[in-house]
Amino acid sequence: MSYVNHYDVVIAGAGIVGASVAWHLAAGGARVAVVDAVGPAAAASGASDGAVSVASKKPGPLARLASASLVYTRDLAAGGVLAGAFHARPSFVFGQGAAELAALDALVSKLHAISGPVHVTGDGPAAQLPCLGPGVERLITLEGEGHMPGHKAVRAYLSAPGITPIWPAPIQGFDIDDAGVTLHLPDRRLRAGHLVAALGTRTTDLFPRLPILPRAGQLFVTDRGVPDLLPGSLTAAAYLVAKTEASDAVPLPPVVVDPLTTGQFLIGSSREPHADPNRVDFATLRQLMARAVSALPALAERRIIRAFAGIRAAVADSLPVVGPLPGESRVTLATGFEGDGICLSALMGRELARMVRGLPLTQGIAADLALLSPARFTDARQEAWG
Ligand SMILES: Cc1cc2nc3c(=O)[nH]c(=O)nc-3n(C[C@H](O)[C@H](O)[C@H](O)COP(=O)(O)OP(=O)(O)OC[C@H]3O[C@@H](n4cnc5c(N)ncnc54)[C@H](O)[C@@H]3O)c2cc1C
Repeated sequence: MSYVNHYDVVIAGAGIVGASVAWHLAAGGARVAVVDAVGPAAAASGASDGAVSVASKKPGPLARLASASLVYTRDLAAGGVLAGAFHARPSFVFGQGAAELAALDALVSKLHAISGPVHVTGDGPAAQLPCLGPGVERLITLEGEGHMPGHKAVRAYLSAPGITPIWPAPIQGFDIDDAGVTLHLPDRRLRAGHLVAALGTRTTDLFPRLPILPRAGQLFVTDRGVPDLLPGSLTAAAYLVAKTEASDAVPLPPVVVDPLTTGQFLIGSSREPHADPNRVDFATLRQLMARAVSALPALAERRIIRAFAGIRAAVADSLPVVGPLPGESRVTLATGFEGDGICLSALMGRELARMVRGLPLTQGIAADLALLSPARFTDARQEAWG
């Protein structure tokens, strides 16, 4: 088999993380190929809610990186590559009962401590928003966050000149030598100076001992309703607890309602320990819908027109895996973004492009990025990377 093509960098995976890295590298003049087994946004990036949210992040490195990514996403949307993909809107977080009200207190303290781009502009009873119903005891209003459908961002990033799309092409393996990396595709081999593996839950196909765990999430979409009924996303505090503490300590459905620009509502999302994107569980959907209706009664008039599931790539320590493969400077990993990949993608694309080009990381976030290094899985290292 002869070698065809030669790229500076091959990106494995056309999800939002791979697409963002590709765009940043191409913008810096690199010749980039993006290879995907199916096509753009075929996995989690095409089946997600799309909240670019700091409020939903665990305090610490993840919240700080999300703040930096939100600011950068807003920059890229201001007449840049993400102009048609990201839109700013308020976020409303609501609670009912002692456990959720305590979670709202924690949210306010966290945002105050971060002192970042997201501000609490309202805190009080549901009456602040006339469309809300009896399921909302207290409502926090946040300004600064936004929404970005994953498929729109992927399309925007990949339309840049200098990026060669290659799909459908499942990568079956790769070899590394002193001069570069050779990717094994079903019908050919690709040569590049560097490989960035952004394969989501399927990272373990090529790096089998990396501790990536599937977390399924179900979402559903309504028909078109009254436009502008809900001016921003509406999130139950239970969702923040489920996400930041990986616990179901709040015994209420962790619902999120996001109004789409089409007038439809996107409603999600569960967290289930399996990897089957074809499994839709109607009991879960009913629970989420019942809570959504009690918070936003007008939803009772809407019909569900689509239900689907996406699979998040989770890591046991709840941090993504970003950085060079230990001992192999020509391979960089970017995976494990669980429920945060849409939010983090802009920043990750910029910083991964800097890593690949051998440039220093952006000051102020380098220490947090170092915590994401694959080198932290020391036990798995030999077999995972061998
Ligand atoms: C229900 C749900 C709700 C979510 N809500 C949010 C949210 O509100 N905000 C947020 O920030 N994040 C959210 N997320 C998380 C977000 O969607 C993911 O973190 C993000 O999409 C991950 O992007 P990725 O590029 O790392 O992986 P993916 O999008 O999974 O992309 C990986 C790509 O690799 C390709 N691939 C796999 N194996 C191979 C192979 N061998 N060869 C070639 N290609 C291969 C796949 O086809 C796929 O296209 C949600 C996720 C789900 C499931």
